[in-house]
Amino acid sequence: MLNTLRDITQAVASAHSLETALEVLVSSTKAAMETQCCSVYILEQQELVLSATDGLEKSAVGRVRMPLTQGLVGLAAEREEAVNLADARLHPRFKLFPEVAEEEYRAFLAVPIIYQKAVVGVIVVQQASARQFSEGEEAFLMTLAAQLAMAIRGLKQKAQVSSLHQQILFQGTSASSGIAIAHAFVLGGEISLEQPDIRCEDIVLESNRLVAAMGRCKEAIGALSQRFDREQDEEVASIFNALQLLLDDASLGGEYAREVLLGWEAESAVSRVSLRYIQQFLAMEDPYLKERASDIRDLGQKVLRQLIEPERLELEPDKPVILVTKEADATMLAEFPRQKLAGIVTELGGVNSHAAILARALGVPAITGVEQLLSADIDQKLLVVNASRGQLMVSPSPAIVSEYRSLISAQKALQRQYAQELTLPSVMLDGKRIRLYLNAGLLSGVASEIAEGADGIGLYRTEIPFMLQQRFPSESEQVKVYQQVLSAASGRPVVMRTLDVGGDKPLPYFPIKEDNPFLGWRGIRLSLDHPELFLVQLRAMLQAGAEGKQLSILLPMVSNLDEIDQALAYLEQAHVELKNDVNSNIKMPRIGIMLEVPAMLYQLDEVAKRVDFVSVGSNDLTQYLLAVDRNNPRVSSLFDSYHPGILRALHQARLDCEYHHLDISICGELAGEPMGAILLVAMGYHQLSMNQGSLARINYLLRRVSGEDLAQLLAQALSLSNGFQVRELVKEYLTLQGLVTILN
Ligand code: PEP
Ligand code: MG
Repeated sequence: MLNTLRDITQAVASAHSLETALEVLVSSTKAAMETQCCSVYILEQQELVLSATDGLEKSAVGRVRMPLTQGLVGLAAEREEAVNLADARLHPRFKLFPEVAEEEYRAFLAVPIIYQKAVVGVIVVQQASARQFSEGEEAFLMTLAAQLAMAIRGLKQKAQVSSLHQQILFQGTSASSGIAIAHAFVLGGEISLEQPDIRCEDIVLESNRLVAAMGRCKEAIGALSQRFDREQDEEVASIFNALQLLLDDASLGGEYAREVLLGWEAESAVSRVSLRYIQQFLAMEDPYLKERASDIRDLGQKVLRQLIEPERLELEPDKPVILVTKEADATMLAEFPRQKLAGIVTELGGVNSHAAILARALGVPAITGVEQLLSADIDQKLLVVNASRGQLMVSPSPAIVSEYRSLISAQKALQRQYAQELTLPSVMLDGKRIRLYLNAGLLSGVASEIAEGADGIGLYRTEIPFMLQQRFPSESEQVKVYQQVLSAASGRPVVMRTLDVGGDKPLPYFPIKEDNPFLGWRGIRLSLDHPELFLVQLRAMLQAGAEGKQLSILLPMVSNLDEIDQALAYLEQAHVELKNDVNSNIKMPRIGIMLEVPAMLYQLDEVAKRVDFVSVGSNDLTQYLLAVDRNNPRVSSLFDSYHPGILRALHQARLDCEYHHLDISICGELAGEPMGAILLVAMGYHQLSMNQGSLARINYLLRRVSGEDLAQLLAQALSLSNGFQVRELVKEYLTLQGLVTILN
């Protein structure tokens, strides 16, 4: 049974069109269930359309349409459950459609095909003899329908896209609001380094192909290195310079060429050389040389891309585009030229994945969780991304485009309005001063991130400088990066977080394979298991902070007091070492922990005895309190920081911190959302840290609300039953205050 199911689902999922997929589905299901008829109806504009059949009249396909309120097929869709009848004719909802010629059938089993709560279609099996389909048969059809729902929905969308000039709507989840209009730039997945071994027929021709591909590759790498040079990100620029050198004759470039001279096709040659050297380097004892394997892999993939997709210059489109990709990781976005990135649409990734946070930091509209996006043929097509609603329109009509262009102008006008007040302090109508800090570190090159108007950097994520490297950065390299951050903040406070890799932030040179990465080896856990790395980072931070009072150090993902004690001991050790060796004036910075793991909410008294402050990571706190993976689009709708349970936890944490004289701030995404910011301020959070893109808007908003009103609003919000009601309540409040446009 399992094999049959797998064979059918694989055959359907690998079909290139909806038509073929459904034909395969009906004929193989009919055979597997040994029935006389199998048909599929697909839901289109509230009507079920007969879309494939093996057993009914073929000419009726596409012609028979029935509203959900009619017939037994409609009943299965309407009730969202199977309809299993020994004799369909006896049922009051039975309706005869003469075109389909189903007079001979009596036994009837219909199962709805449901994807994410929405009916996509109905699959029906029928038989002439009057008999009830068995429980096993019913379960088989239900399993099949559930397994195929996603593929069928995807193929349906793809079919719509291919129909010429028709405007198509894809739905995803808003990850960074705003509107973008530009052409699609589809970035395929990784090119496999394992290419087949193929002998070439013309060695000269093949050598020329290889030389041309390496030339283009050199140009592309050169452009990247120059860009990072311009952004004064020397570390990253130096990586690309090193890759360029590897292309030389005396290095891998020469090896590739020799392999072609031995009679291999260029792709095979690059693959053979790369795999051979990777194996050799991985077998070496010296950790530095071992790490060079990743350079060889990286270069091999870059040259292969030029051989396999020669027209596409890697990540360098000539005008702004909407990047369409399976999954954007933070590194990909950090490398993509910013001025060329109009919008981002991805199949995978949740609203609080780090790629989504980065999109918000860049102020680029983004939608995640758009299924079957890559199988729809949308490369180069004009797109409208209405990210605020999670909508993607493919090939929109000119009228739609002009409508969205005017919306973009209106939004720009609003942003200019907010920006005018950016340098004014964030003082509420009742005179309460709120400190607004910046979340930084997800971009390479910090200088451009420090906005006028921010009271400092509330969260500097050190992961990204680590992620953009090919190995762990050395102590002096780290000192340099941290000094840049501190000087970019020009005297204002900076909270630097120690390495928080793991989860959805892998280091390319330190792979971690886990079944549940968000519950695994993340943040402080990894640092404490690798004191040699942790001490280097702490020493680098202390040296960069040196004698001033500007620096605070923040520990991520703390889940018990022992971790704090151990981390403090390492900090003390790093401090003593530096005082002895380098500079006796180095001061101990303020130290804090992220409040991300729920258990820590209940030990704030003990936390207060150990550290100076806590910073709430509402992204992870929400993830762990609600047991919802922040990265999984299937459960995106459940990831809700406005869930009254979460709001109560945040409120209580603030009160407990006050009681224990522990300084508290918040740096999760909630702080940068207008509704989140006012609820947090109402709870008594007076230090909010957020993305650059949110700063002006939140400042504008807080300058127009008063603490008294907010206290009432909070009391009401905390008593509501769910996040939807909370958002509606806050929206209503903003509407009454004439501030609702802030939500656009
Ligand atoms: C958080 O979890 O809210 C947070 C700010 O940290 P990160 O998003 O980097 O995990
Ligand atoms: Mg976190």
